[in-house]
Amino acid sequence: MHQKKIFLNESEMPEHWYNIVADMPNKPLPPLHPGTKQPVGPEDLAPLFPMELIKQEVSTERYIEIPDQVRDIYRIWRPTPVMRAYGLEKLLDTPAKIYYKYEGGSPSGSHKPNTAVPQAYYNKKQGVKRLTTETGAGQWGTALSFACAQFDLECEVYMVRISYDQKPYRKIMMNTFGADVYASPSNRTKAGRDVLAKDSSSTGSLGIAISEAIERAVADEHTKYALGSVLNHVLTHQTIIGQETMKQMEYAGDYPDIIIAPLGGGSNFAGLAFPFLKNLITGTKRVRCIAVEPASCPKLTKGVFRYDFGDTAGYTPLLPMYTLGHNFKPASIHAGGLRYHGASVLCSQLLKDGLIEAQALQQLECFEAGVQFAKTEGIIPAPEATHAIAQVIREANQAKLEGTSKVILFNMCGHGFVDMQAYADYFEGNLENHFFTDKELSANLEEIEALQPA
Ligand SMILES: *Cc1c(COP(=O)(O)O)cnc(C)c1O
Repeated sequence: MHQKKIFLNESEMPEHWYNIVADMPNKPLPPLHPGTKQPVGPEDLAPLFPMELIKQEVSTERYIEIPDQVRDIYRIWRPTPVMRAYGLEKLLDTPAKIYYKYEGGSPSGSHKPNTAVPQAYYNKKQGVKRLTTETGAGQWGTALSFACAQFDLECEVYMVRISYDQKPYRKIMMNTFGADVYASPSNRTKAGRDVLAKDSSSTGSLGIAISEAIERAVADEHTKYALGSVLNHVLTHQTIIGQETMKQMEYAGDYPDIIIAPLGGGSNFAGLAFPFLKNLITGTKRVRCIAVEPASCPKLTKGVFRYDFGDTAGYTPLLPMYTLGHNFKPASIHAGGLRYHGASVLCSQLLKDGLIEAQALQQLECFEAGVQFAKTEGIIPAPEATHAIAQVIREANQAKLEGTSKVILFNMCGHGFVDMQAYADYFEGNLENHFFTDKELSANLEEIEALQPA
């Protein structure tokens, strides 16, 4: 009998994170100081992050050891299972084999605690008292709240207004783990007040919430900032996903032809794909890796590769990435975790070099796919995860057309149990697809030309 679930023992949990920078043919360009346009040094980042994380951010070492205390906490939910989606395969009547890594069993219900725990750990080790952060859909805020509770740190979360209103239970989860949660834009920061002055009914954005959290961290020496995606160290922490999966696929006796994950900033995509990309880059095994973004925030497929700010107020260093401009306002879709104007530096460079692919999908196709998955596999996916599932269905249908048996692996990066309002809106016919004009897409690109180095 074929296995449905492929488990690992706790003793098989990876002991290192994988840093893809060591193997990239073109190394990522350095982040720049917006004033001098010179590469930022560790001292520029020190007000925001503890030194261990800054070291990881610029590391070129292939493997970084996972501290024992972090592995101990990982054991609450890791290793996570790889599942064969027999039910979905049957529904699609496809010759493709579909596997997924399920990250929804974590304390927040997604992959985010994989980096929240080490980030809290390194901050605690350096004597930090409080962490501030932003959250979109609420996944990252929940993950960091949990991690702070583990290390007895205070946690202050700026939650994008639209999600704060749509997802009251996310806020209560964070409160349960001990965090203080504020709707962003708030009047607690200059960045928030500036936005509210222009638009008092602003529904917020990740870019604005990041500015607020950074401003709070910079203002107090005992407070630091934590980011849930985009940065190199965050992506590196997530590679525990792909390393576990590689062992599990070995046990299953298959190797993926196609790897698919949704992309907001790039961390769950990187987490699953990077260990497999190592084999592609070093020429040992082929694989197509597809990052799926929402058509309402299409930085990979419609953005430009440029230096841009990671936040709206312009507090971060300039990052070389695919971006729609830091003032781009994504449509108010329910996949809050995918509403970010840029993509991580590492994913951007890999896309530019043709080592990964990108696809933008409309939300109605994604929710339809999510419902098909829920009915056949029994797990209600997070709205973000439905983007991967929709692309999986496209690839499985293509395999059927071609009559080839492809192995498709995707990241089921989170469950949707706290996202039922999104499903309600879908069932009630209140969701729409989004079509941007070229003018709307390029409206925020001109202003970033001035940010480019000479
Ligand atoms: C945060 C989140 C995302 C998007 O962030 P990435 O860094 O691109 O992974 C996707 N899915 C879920 C469930 C999330 O919580």
